[in-house]
Amino acid sequence: MIVAGNWKMNKNLQEGIELAKEVNDFFKENPAEAEVIIAPPYIHLADVARSLSIVKLSSQNSASETSGAYTGEISASMIKSTGAEYVILGHSERRSYFGEDDDLLFRKIKLVLEQEMKPIFCCGEVLKERESDMHFEVVKNQVETALFGLSPEEFSEIVIAYEPVWAIGTGVTATPAQAQEMHAFIRDLIRSKFGETAADDLSILYGGSCKPSNAREIFENPDVDGGLIGGAALHAEDFIKIVQSF
Ligand code: PEP
Repeated sequence: MIVAGNWKMNKNLQEGIELAKEVNDFFKENPAEAEVIIAPPYIHLADVARSLSIVKLSSQNSASETSGAYTGEISASMIKSTGAEYVILGHSERRSYFGEDDDLLFRKIKLVLEQEMKPIFCCGEVLKERESDMHFEVVKNQVETALFGLSPEEFSEIVIAYEPVWAIGTGVTATPAQAQEMHAFIRDLIRSKFGETAADDLSILYGGSCKPSNAREIFENPDVDGGLIGGAALHAEDFIKIVQSF
């Protein structure tokens, strides 16, 4: 079980350190069943890392090139050097506002794996696609394009987050049945490509308006292995309650 908090573009450095400390100190005293990860903005990573002992660190993105003249970009090796162990890739906001597609994400995933970090690969359909019953096809294409070119060894480092775009930041959550159905579909897809063990070992997180009041009913499903949490991860108390829903 994994619960990861994606802070997006929120919190200044001092606020970020404070939140990280609060979450870390709580789980140091009260060990969680789940692996707990926080993903602050890039510029906080190194400082936040110094406040963490039990909670793991993730970035929210990484560059598609290794180094060089890419003004404003942050490479996987730079992220690794801060102490981060995970990198969120393919978040729907990266896809829609920054035009990231699954071919680009495949490249980013390879670079993150080369640095021995774990990609948290996000996939999910927009509302129109769900309404026209194309959600399985959309997610299948995303997973196949971004992940099927990996070797079995590389794939074993991947975490998948299913995040229906219509549920992100909207207050509308997928029903437990909708989450379970898609997670089972993704696991089957992985089984068909990488085999039974890879499918069984894979963590598939749900993301989309997860809060303390609905986390338990979502996490209870057999194919839901945790959550990727946005808004509720900005409040230590809510995030802690979600982690404790297991
Ligand atoms: C997210 O951004 O990954 C997310 C799930 O956001 P929220 O929990 O705010 O819907």
